[in-house]
Amino acid sequence: MKITVAKNAGFCFGVKRAYDLAKMNSFDCEKIYMLGKLVHNGDVCAELKKKGIKEIKQLSEMRDGAVIFTAHGVGPSLYEKANRNGLRIIDTTCPKVMKAQRLAQNFVKKGWQTIIFGDKNHKEVKGIKEWSKNKAIIASSLEDIKKIKFDKKKRYCLISQTTQNVAEFKKIKNYLSKNLPNFAYFNTICDSTDKRQNEVRKLAKSNDAVIIIGGLDSANTKRLFEIAKSLNPKSYLIENANQLKKSWIKNIKKVAISAGASTPEWVIQEVRKKI
Ligand code: SF4
Repeated sequence: MKITVAKNAGFCFGVKRAYDLAKMNSFDCEKIYMLGKLVHNGDVCAELKKKGIKEIKQLSEMRDGAVIFTAHGVGPSLYEKANRNGLRIIDTTCPKVMKAQRLAQNFVKKGWQTIIFGDKNHKEVKGIKEWSKNKAIIASSLEDIKKIKFDKKKRYCLISQTTQNVAEFKKIKNYLSKNLPNFAYFNTICDSTDKRQNEVRKLAKSNDAVIIIGGLDSANTKRLFEIAKSLNPKSYLIENANQLKKSWIKNIKKVAISAGASTPEWVIQEVRKKI
């Protein structure tokens, strides 16, 4: 059987940076807490736990020490709260997420209405919205956009959650360009997401089966799986090698493996070996 591992699989630049920053700081003697999961990957979180980094859900769970803000970023209120409480901040917000945050912040200051193409329940989107003084409108599809009552006298600015589908962003952008006289847009979708999605499209068409590896709560992994599945019905989503099923690769000649941005290389290699 021919096994192809996608070139753009696994840790992206932002996740690798966050993981390295967290590990580097774990050598300090002070207590380190991680606000939420550093990445949506159980194996990576378990690794950090071994290094003494404790995961917390709320800032109120810690009194002193350092707090890690994850690659997804947080809103301004958490920076203020951490500073007020005298905590050291280890900020691993991905620079690409930070760009979307700054756009939201700057455009709201100039009086524009920001629209975020994204999932309203996702941590990254909640953070970006907070930088817009909570004024941004969130839409997860063109259908959502079509339901909005726009005021043509207002100025609108479209940005995106970094892990959204590029094709859908383009549809939304084209629709708004035609319908709004005062409209600006910034494609803040991460190119690592774009490359990963394009590669999985090609692999799904040229292979008999596709295995996508990643956390089930990882937005970019889910999107990758949706793309693969839409082009190849024999596409499967797993978190690690233990979840592989023999029946999936029975009588299969060519199988492709791709993985979300929060999947470490060691998990990808375990899956490859097991296949
Ligand atoms: S997917 Fe892109 S935006 Fe998200 S953490 Fe990775 S590099 Fe940053």
